[in-house]
Amino acid sequence: MQFIDLKAQYQYLKENIDKRIHTVLEHGKYIMGPEVQELEEKLASYVGVKHCITCANGTDALTLSMMVLEIQEGDAVFCPTFTFFATAETIAFQKATPVFVDSDEQTFNICPIDLEKRIEQVISEGKLKPKAIVAVDLFGLPANYPELERIAKKYKLKLIEDAAQGFGGEIEGRRAGSFGDIATTSFFPAKPLGCYGDGGAIFTNNDEYAQLLRSYRVHGKGKDKYDNVRIGVNSRLDTIQAAILIEKLEEFPAELKARGGLASKYTQLITLDVKKPYTPNGYVSSWAQYTLISQNRDIHMEAYKNKSIPTMVYYGTCMHQQTAFSYLGYSDSDFPIASMLSASVFSLPMHPYMNDDSLNKIIET
Ligand SMILES: *Cc1c(COP(=O)(O)O)cnc(C)c1O
Repeated sequence: MQFIDLKAQYQYLKENIDKRIHTVLEHGKYIMGPEVQELEEKLASYVGVKHCITCANGTDALTLSMMVLEIQEGDAVFCPTFTFFATAETIAFQKATPVFVDSDEQTFNICPIDLEKRIEQVISEGKLKPKAIVAVDLFGLPANYPELERIAKKYKLKLIEDAAQGFGGEIEGRRAGSFGDIATTSFFPAKPLGCYGDGGAIFTNNDEYAQLLRSYRVHGKGKDKYDNVRIGVNSRLDTIQAAILIEKLEEFPAELKARGGLASKYTQLITLDVKKPYTPNGYVSSWAQYTLISQNRDIHMEAYKNKSIPTMVYYGTCMHQQTAFSYLGYSDSDFPIASMLSASVFSLPMHPYMNDDSLNKIIET
């Protein structure tokens, strides 16, 4: 059994994907070919924003967004401590200071109450300039954007949505990728919408940001790649990956439905002494992961392992526990919820191509 069965998905979509890849091989526009623009238009329309700018991966999507927002040394950027490393890494990469925030125990996402406390604290210390919030749609569930947008406005902070896991999620009909000033996603193969290599995208309604992003991703280009008007990077989505994503986006709504169906079955049928995931009213998760909380995580994971059922821990190490961030001087007592989560969460196999035999085996175990 696979934790995420990418091969089953390829077998299902093989004919169309192979055709798309061959079209690219034949036309030969391997960099910024026509499929890249076609995909950007389709993604922008799916999410419901004006601009989509694809790039090389989800980490670059965050970095490019932070370049546009001029996040720099001396800035405080608030982000959850319970997340994937890239969320916080990109803040430090801009030489800004990540200020970690505890999690909401129900949703696993950034806690708006703790966020406001930490903003007030940075203001009263007077050393750093509060600049932005990076919220994460952890395990597929959009963060509490109604509250986060209110806080960002109150303190005049920029808001970035890290939708690397949340693509496909919704709040009251508004899709992930449409929240905040800029939103980012990743097409890493294991994400809800993945390609067959690295890929990423940025979403915004701001024309100026969009223009800057298109320049930054190709060496700070002006008129063209050999007219360089600012310092940028090289971060484009390969044409072949764009072609694959066009095909996968067609199937994505059906896949989301299958993920949701699997999550409901887990929630109905699992009778372990575990806490199951919570989805607030009006929210739709893309179910990047189905994550349980248990004080007996090791025992449960061992039992699954004995039946050859793969399980994973996302994330066993919070940002404040990472060696790379030890210079910030945090301890577990600063983040009681996130520290508890990192010691007790584990995730079950989750993908849209789960067959009944595998599902029954997981439930029985
Ligand atoms: C995967 C992920 C990223 C980074 O995406 P890559 O494409 O792997 O660079 C960033 N943030 C979160 C929350 C992620 O899960």
